[in-house]
Amino acid sequence: MARRGNLFVISGPSGAGKGTLVSRVLKRVPDAWVSVSATTRAPREGEIPGSSYIFMTDEEFDDLVDRGGFLEWAHVHTHKYGTPFASVKEHIDAGDQVILEIDVQGAFQVREKLPQAHLVFIDVPSEEELLARLRGRGTEPEDVIAARMKVAQVELSQKEKYDYLVMNDDLDRATDELVAYIESKANQS
Ligand code: 5GP
Repeated sequence: MARRGNLFVISGPSGAGKGTLVSRVLKRVPDAWVSVSATTRAPREGEIPGSSYIFMTDEEFDDLVDRGGFLEWAHVHTHKYGTPFASVKEHIDAGDQVILEIDVQGAFQVREKLPQAHLVFIDVPSEEELLARLRGRGTEPEDVIAARMKVAQVELSQKEKYDYLVMNDDLDRATDELVAYIESKANQS
């Protein structure tokens, strides 16, 4: 039988490992479903339109904003990102454990609109560790990394406002903790 749907918002600085954690959760929680965001930024190498993101022009994005099509949206790193509302609602109603991987501004907008949402922050052991991880990716030039570090500091300053913190110091342990949290909420319903 389907469980009651829940909404989980996962935030944390770039380099905290949100994407890896979410893909591991999807393998372990059978009714987990992750929302595909819309963005105005260009696709990176290897990204699949419609699967990694729904890539939109500024006009398309603004049009969807005007039509009330986003649960939340925000400017992140000079581009716009947003969560299409319709598919999220459909999956919550279907009894899925819906996951949004979004920034802190978006997370608080979701809390305003849907106070039952569970806000989870993925934390890192230190800023030095975060910088090392961002550099280790090797995908971004140094000025982009510096900009991401600034944004990361702002995001880290908001972590106490979240409902639950997961320290990603060890990927296996952090995955277990996040899966346990999602399962506990899903089984409460
Ligand atoms: P990236 O460009 O590296 O894929 O994502 C940059 C940031 O945008 C990430 O921190 C991610 O959490 C945030 N983000 C992705 N999708 C959304 C969304 O739909 N809404 C909001 N508010 N932030 C998003």
